[in-house]
Amino acid sequence: MEKFVYQFAEGSKEMKTLLGGKGANLAEMKNIGLPVPPGFIISTAASNAYNANEKKLPQPVMDEIQIHLSELERETGKQFGSNENPLLVSVRSGAPVSMPGMMDTILNLGLNDQAVRGLAKLTGDKRSSFDSYRRFIQMFGDVVFHIPAYKFEEALSAIKKKKQYTLDTELTAEDLEQLTETYQNLYIEHTGKEFPQDPYTQLKLSINAVFESWMNPRAVVYRRLHDIDPNLGTAINIQAMVFGNTGDKSGTGIAFTRNPSTGEKRVFGEFLMNAQGEDVVAGIRTPLDITSLETVMPSVYQELMTICADLETHYKDMQDIEFTIEKEKLYILQTRNGKRTTQAAVKVATSLVHEGLISKEEAILRIEPKQLDQLLHPAFDKQALESSVVLATGLPASPGAASGQIYFDANSAVSQVELGTKVILVRNETSPEDIEGMAKSEAILTAHGGMTSHAAVVARGMGKCCIAGCAEITISEKDKTLTTISGQALREGDFISLDGTSGHVYVGQIKLTEAEVSEHFHELMDWVSDVKKLTVRVNADTPSDFKTGIHFGAEGIGLCRTEHMFFQDERIRFVRQMIVSENAEERNKALAHLKMMQKEDFIQLFRIAAGRPVTIRLLDPPLHEFLPKEKKELELLAHDMGKSLRDIEKVVHELVETNPMLGHRGARLAVTYPEIYKMQAEAIMESAVSVSSEGISVFPEIMIPLIATAEELMFVKKEIKASVQDIFERERMILPYDIGTMIEIPRACMVADEIAKEAQFFSFGTNDLTQLTFGFSRDDVGKFLPSYMKNGLLKADPFATIDEGVRLLVETAIKKGRKTNPHMKMGVCGEHGGDPASVRIFHEIGLQYVSCSPFRVPIARLAAAQAVLLAPKMLEASAK
Ligand code: PEP
Ligand code: MG
Repeated sequence: MEKFVYQFAEGSKEMKTLLGGKGANLAEMKNIGLPVPPGFIISTAASNAYNANEKKLPQPVMDEIQIHLSELERETGKQFGSNENPLLVSVRSGAPVSMPGMMDTILNLGLNDQAVRGLAKLTGDKRSSFDSYRRFIQMFGDVVFHIPAYKFEEALSAIKKKKQYTLDTELTAEDLEQLTETYQNLYIEHTGKEFPQDPYTQLKLSINAVFESWMNPRAVVYRRLHDIDPNLGTAINIQAMVFGNTGDKSGTGIAFTRNPSTGEKRVFGEFLMNAQGEDVVAGIRTPLDITSLETVMPSVYQELMTICADLETHYKDMQDIEFTIEKEKLYILQTRNGKRTTQAAVKVATSLVHEGLISKEEAILRIEPKQLDQLLHPAFDKQALESSVVLATGLPASPGAASGQIYFDANSAVSQVELGTKVILVRNETSPEDIEGMAKSEAILTAHGGMTSHAAVVARGMGKCCIAGCAEITISEKDKTLTTISGQALREGDFISLDGTSGHVYVGQIKLTEAEVSEHFHELMDWVSDVKKLTVRVNADTPSDFKTGIHFGAEGIGLCRTEHMFFQDERIRFVRQMIVSENAEERNKALAHLKMMQKEDFIQLFRIAAGRPVTIRLLDPPLHEFLPKEKKELELLAHDMGKSLRDIEKVVHELVETNPMLGHRGARLAVTYPEIYKMQAEAIMESAVSVSSEGISVFPEIMIPLIATAEELMFVKKEIKASVQDIFERERMILPYDIGTMIEIPRACMVADEIAKEAQFFSFGTNDLTQLTFGFSRDDVGKFLPSYMKNGLLKADPFATIDEGVRLLVETAIKKGRKTNPHMKMGVCGEHGGDPASVRIFHEIGLQYVSCSPFRVPIARLAAAQAVLLAPKMLEASAK
């Protein structure tokens, strides 16, 4: 017969799936001899049986509960349902995965109008008995019948006001007795029924309600956000009550074995005397620092300190412990691995290694890679954030946090910054001419575009906070207003705050905490380097991005987008001249300027690289990002080209594409105008020769974008090779270099064996590959992707985490490519290269490197190391 209920003695910390985290740890603590109040656990199997039985507790479960209740009665010498010597219990949820505050708890269950008096008589403490009763009615009413908590709070405040008390502890036994009556009336008002006096009815309703709370909206949302399996169900812990509210020799509190903000090795926590659990978190009375317990109750303090140390050694991790003191006797009600800031996580993990409790590998696995963002970027002060109002939510395109005044165009943003204003640049979408505005602003908010839109990619490269595709706002760049769906309108100069990690936009300013990288971080990252197999490179187009990447451990450049090197005002002029050229002569003139600029840039990059590989991708400008739009820009271009405004307008009009992402870009540009890539190849190799002559080793990798066929690659490559050969002959120098291709078109994946014959490396452009595999425009996903996510049609944003279908294409290309070119280098330079879940997949499918924006380099390194450590576990699991 299936078993649904377990005694603590039957459980252990390994049984979280069946007993829930709280239950498994209570069992473990009981079994290692810690003072845990006696009790039992209704398993998650019962939760599933409850759901399968049309939300009714099956009789066999009830029967088992009855047996364990009798056992509990024997153990405590009290009786459930007795009016003279009542056994009171707590009913607490406990899911297999910690979901703090998401589900419900009921304390003091078993009290009724008679039992409360019996208890008072037995303990000689009428006050605490009625205090327990009024708390029970409130919790029961709230959890089982959803009576709003504020109704009870109002009644409590009313009596305190009437009696002119400031603290709950000033309430007398009579006040509390009266309050239980008021609460019962509230109960009747809300439910139309009397408060149930039968403890078995109370218990059954409470168990049902806790099982139901698994499906409450906040729990559902929490699970979705944290990717928790909705079928796990919750366990329920039934424990004999211990009372922290029985006078000034009793109390309750929380202790972290280390400081959860800093990781410092010192017990951190707080407590309240004469209180029950919820008082500590309710914030009505100010709890005392845990260190003052030493003065209040020295022996209990010592015992607690010893238990903290023992639990930490036992669990080999920082613990978050709940305790209650009943008349100077200490009880431990819960232990779990404590939630902590990233700074603390890194310090705790490295310290535990030094203390010999865990291995370096274990320490690496303890840190969630994405958490590192918290260390590398400023974040909002947690407390300040709690009181802030979310205005809208968009895609969390680039992490960090920023507050500032909104401006709707790059020029206003730049001039405001020059006046000392902190600016948030708000645009429908960004384009290259916004670059200076983006660079100078604190953060960027766009209404359109996805995780790989221009704004997202550029902001990540800059390490700047960005929320993209915020479909919940409408922006009028003309009227300089931002309007939310609820109709709230903000104007130029109004303050907003962006959290690029959550995607939330807030009204007003929020206090920030600065980023800081500690020695512990560097130590951890050294261990990471020893473990990981994937090389991590940086996507960098500027010397400063490259330096940042190297600072964070990048092993070369995996993608230098040359078109991004022309974003600044002066430079974009020449790209535009090149684009609108109507003949080779005009084009060559523009190209000559561009070549000079490119050489300057490449020389700097090669110097910084100091022999590390530098993958330079030849021009791939999606035209809509580069064509002039505003009259001023068109006039300037007309002037530069010595043409009339009308003529230029006409050319630009002809160049406008219906679908620029599928248009005249990448290698297609070189097929039409071979002189463009010829210029770039010359610029690269002339710079390489020059830096090599300085005694610095160089290793350029010339990369051709948007290749679909082997013939296309051969055509483009031939021209490049010829130019490089000319330079080598002219300079009488031969340098090692590679020519490779991006694989970012599904067709290229399917014919990768043919393409591989012509390439020395493959770099998967998973941004375009995702766009083209789904047929989802990178720049328009903001309009429909949120609906896909909300309806559960996609588990994750495919532009952020590699999709299964795209992964299959990459795998196919790897296999096919290696068949004809077994030793070819293969990596990823799409935005997925910095996403931990994707990095793990790239490791598993046999890529050699990933490349990502500078601030994601540490994240990718950590994820790469974890991929190695988790791989054997996966193999073990699949062998079972
Ligand atoms: C890609 O498509 O993945 C890529 C890296 O190129 P881009 O984002 O510049 O199109
Ligand atoms: Mg691409």
